[in-house]
Order: sequence, then C-alpha cells, then structure tokens
Amino acid sequence: MSLQRVAVIGAGTMGSGIAQVFAQSGLSVYLCDVEEEFVKRGITSIEKSLGRLVKKNKIKEDEASAVLGNITTGTEIDGAADTEFVVEAIVEDLDSKCLIFEQLDTLLAPKTIFASNTSSISITKLAAVTSRPDRFIGMHFMNPVPIMKLVEIIRGLGTSDETYVVTEDLAIKLGKMPVEVNDAPGFVSNRVLMPLINEAIYAYMEGVASPEAIDTVMQLGMNHPMGPLTLADFIGLDVCLSIMRVLHEGLGDPKYRPCPLLIKMVDAGYLGRKTGKGFYEYKD
Ligand code: NAD
Repeated sequence: MSLQRVAVIGAGTMGSGIAQVFAQSGLSVYLCDVEEEFVKRGITSIEKSLGRLVKKNKIKEDEASAVLGNITTGTEIDGAADTEFVVEAIVEDLDSKCLIFEQLDTLLAPKTIFASNTSSISITKLAAVTSRPDRFIGMHFMNPVPIMKLVEIIRGLGTSDETYVVTEDLAIKLGKMPVEVNDAPGFVSNRVLMPLINEAIYAYMEGVASPEAIDTVMQLGMNHPMGPLTLADFIGLDVCLSIMRVLHEGLGDPKYRPCPLLIKMVDAGYLGRKTGKGFYEYKD
C-alpha cells in the first residue's frame, strides 16, 4: 500500500514535528488543531526547523518551500476525510483521545489506518472505541521528531499484520528506525526510561547527591548524552509523573511508585523547562 495523503491531528510539539517529517518525505499532509492560533504556532515551528536545515546546508531553500507546500492546515477534522493514514498527537488524555477517534471513525473510510502517538495510553483501549481495531496501531515518535531516529511501533491486541507492515514501511520512508513493541504500560521506551528518572529523583530526595552530581555520574560514567534530571526537566515533570502513574497502576508493582519529591514538585508547578524551574532553573 503506497500512501499519498496523510493527516496529523494536533499541531503541538509532536504533531508539528510529525507533519514536517511526513511532508519532507513527499507526502501530502493535513495538519489540524482546535484553534487557528495553535495551527499557526505549529507551522511557525516547522518553518524554524526547516530554516535551521537550510542554514546547515542540509536542504536547499526551494526544498524547504516545497515541504511547506505539501502541508495544508485547518481547525476541523473534516479536512482529514480523504486521507489514508492518520496520526493523532493531541494532549495525553484518554477521554480526549477517545473522542477524536470516535469522530474520525465515523468520518474516514474504513480502510484508513489510525495511529496514536501516545506515550503511555493503551493502544488496545483506544482501538476499542473504533470499528477498526485491526487498522489501529501505536506510532510513538521521539522528541524532537525531525532529529530522533526511533519510532516505537506498538501492536494493539487486534492490530493486523497488514497494518503493522504499512506503518513500518511508512517509518522507513521517513528515514526512521522502526522497532516493534507489544502493547503494555509505557511500551519499552518509558518502561525503561521513567524508572531510571524516578530513581534519580529518589537519590536526590534522600540526599545521596546533588542534581548536578547525579547527572554527571550518568553522563560521564554511563555515557548518557544527558543526565536523568536534566532529561526530566526537558520532558516535563508532569509528563514524567503521569507516565509513572500509568506504570504503577498498569503493572501493579510497588517498584513503580512515583517518587514523593516528583509529586511535590508537580504540585508546586515546578514542571521543568516549560515553567522555568524544575531540578534546575531556566532563565529564558
Ligand atoms: P502539546 O501539548 O505540545 O500538543 C498537543 C496539541 O493538541 C495542542 O496544540 C492542542 O491544542 C491540540 N489538541 C488538543 N485537543 C485537540 C483536538 N481535539 N483536536 C485537535 N488538536 C487538539 O503535546 P505534545 O507534547 O505534542 O504531545 C502530543 C502527544 O504526543 C501526547 O500523546 C504525548 O504523550 C505524545 N508524546 C509526547 C512527547 C514529548 O516529548 N512531548 C514524546 C512522545 C510522545
């Protein structure tokens, strides 16, 4: 199945990145968000990202214009009606995602494949609100999408082999490295990463070392490009907490208990880079 026209629902951090890589691979993309202002913000971020690629001589200016020419935008999901593959990248909230998939299910042809970029919500659960669990899959891109090579492809309980192959081929067309994963809390990426971050927060809370010291040990000792507390600030402490809760609830093992300091920091509004304060302070 050769895809021509795709849709991305949600033009935030991830949706704009996903729309960009689709458009760069020559696909015609419909990018949608709830407000015109959010759509504009998404397009501005794509323009900036393409501008950086032009500056680094990775693409020519006319190529950047052609990429932007492959993207149409709107605030209604109706614009996705004639697409063959849809990636949902709206807020990480089960009810909002279920609502969008119910609407898409009534609007789009039965053959259209639905993919969710969720970081933690069950693909099987989302698929169950549609009439096409066989044509439903997880396509978990990493942030920043244009740079990160990995795409976790998550099979829900009902995902067909054909849907898996189409999605894997699509990831390869985008220049990504697809990795097959079964549906389970946190998939692989967050099942492994989040307990590491949570443990680093415990170490800090218990006075084992300062944030700088913990990050330096992991960077220089384990060759991680970024220490776990710096990474937590980058991801957002609210996001880290919600993923730890999914692991704790979904796997039922106390080893996934969110660190009390993480809960306290989220309660205080110290969410990391996006609020200017997390384990570190951010002036800009
Ligand atoms: P974001 O908050 O930057 O963007 C979400 C966008 O969805 C917003 O612009 C919002 O207006 C829009 N939206 C909300 N409801 C909508 C609707 N009904 N229709 C259309 N648009 C709607 O969030 P994000 O960081 O881009 O995350 C999006 C998804 O990707 C989440 O499921 C998240 O878990 C997942 N994810 C995020 C990251 C990350 O590092 N940020 C990494 C991997 C996966």
